[in-house]
Amino acid sequence: MANTDPAVRVRFCPSPTGNPHVGMVRTALFNWAYARHNGGTLVFRIEDTDSARDSEESYNQLLDAMRWLGLDWDEGPEVGGPDAPYRQSQRMDIYADVARRLYEAGHAYHCYCSTEELDARREAARAAGKPSGYDGHCRDLTDEQVAVYKLEKREPILRFRMPDKTISFDDLVRGTLTFEPENVPDYGIVRANGAPLYTLVNPVDDALMGITHVLRGEDLLSSTPRQVALYAALAEIGVGNGTTPRFGHLPYVMGEGNKKLSKRDPQSSLNMYRERGFIREGLLNYLSLLGWSLAEDRDLFDMDEMVAAFDVTKVNANPARFDLKKCEAINAEHVRRLAPEDFVRRLVPFLQGAELLPAEPTAEQLDLLAKVAPLTQERMVVLSEIVNMAGFLFVAPEKFALDPDDAAKVLTADARPVLEASIKALEELADFTPEPIQAALREALVDGLGIKPKFAFTPLRVAVTGRRVSPPLFESMELLGRPETLRRLRAALEALPAA
Ligand code: GLU
Ligand code: ZN
Repeated sequence: MANTDPAVRVRFCPSPTGNPHVGMVRTALFNWAYARHNGGTLVFRIEDTDSARDSEESYNQLLDAMRWLGLDWDEGPEVGGPDAPYRQSQRMDIYADVARRLYEAGHAYHCYCSTEELDARREAARAAGKPSGYDGHCRDLTDEQVAVYKLEKREPILRFRMPDKTISFDDLVRGTLTFEPENVPDYGIVRANGAPLYTLVNPVDDALMGITHVLRGEDLLSSTPRQVALYAALAEIGVGNGTTPRFGHLPYVMGEGNKKLSKRDPQSSLNMYRERGFIREGLLNYLSLLGWSLAEDRDLFDMDEMVAAFDVTKVNANPARFDLKKCEAINAEHVRRLAPEDFVRRLVPFLQGAELLPAEPTAEQLDLLAKVAPLTQERMVVLSEIVNMAGFLFVAPEKFALDPDDAAKVLTADARPVLEASIKALEELADFTPEPIQAALREALVDGLGIKPKFAFTPLRVAVTGRRVSPPLFESMELLGRPETLRRLRAALEALPAA
């Protein structure tokens, strides 16, 4: 591969709050692809310094999601690495030490302003049409002022002193971005109770972990000029190797009504996609199209192809629209590409979830699934569809039920001669396999009763599979076996309304 750089070190560093969502997966994917393309390193770091919002359940879900997606990491939880631990909650001593050194070097200062005072001054600035961020009030307090605040028992936060100069950096996606000092005020890095904030710990770990490229969502762009200044201060006090990473801000993902896809939007929940039976290949393929493309008119590809081609400088800065229909269509293509045994293996949990297969399926059940699977693979969008498509084969006879709407539409009094003739034909059939079944039913219904095939077979389909949409009828009958096929046809006949 041309232009690869094994020195690339990227990171995926989510906060374990709530459920994994697709925006987060897109960020993980682009970092992963960039690391793999370059033969570099993906660091997986857990930003769990906000104990009020972080949860262990969410942490476990994150790891599970990454494993399910096949996005492997080189350093991080469970894998370890030279900069362990990779959970920020276990690195508090490091942050306390760096905070102290920043303070001693004059890069940070104690701010004693109360929330009320900050709010009042912000309002006043706004009213006067001035920038409304922190006004630098505590930057250069005299010893007397500090003494007074201490007497008042005020607990200071630690605030980073932004340099009074223009900050600019070359964004890998957006080109050169420039920020004027009046728009980037001094900001808090440690709470009054000593808890370090994201604003501090994120760049500190990037520096300590030697991160070379920060690829993250556009929503974090406003924190970048602050962090650029902080990396410079860290270099000065000897934290990390002294270089500032390059940044690439990935475009927003838009949902319904052209609004930003929110974490709370059901359409953004990774679990929803997993439960519906999207497969990782399809989902990753689709998510990689949110801001990137392999080539013109090439929507369908696998992760090897993505990795080979991925270049963050080719990411598009414009917001990307999440199109569920397209995501489904791409998933369906990847479902079709699955090797038969792999497809079968992945169907099992969905049938188990619907209680159509036990925790330990028998050899016969797996054999049946292997036989019906090829009849469904071509027409499936998501794997959970197997429940409706093939449930009729696995359901216990006493639990078999017809779809009420389909039955009402199709199993009318008119179906009586169809069912009667079919039962007779199938009872007498010597060889109960698809071709003879089809021939016998055609003869009985189309030739015998003069019914068009379209109308002849639909009542049979509903009676035998429970639905108007099912795998091919004659194969379905064979897999179900003659006794159960006849039992269902007779049951449907008995349940027909009177003429
Ligand atoms: N923990 C931050 C977040 O989840 C990471 C931000 C970043 O990638 O720098 O938003
Ligand atoms: Zn202050």
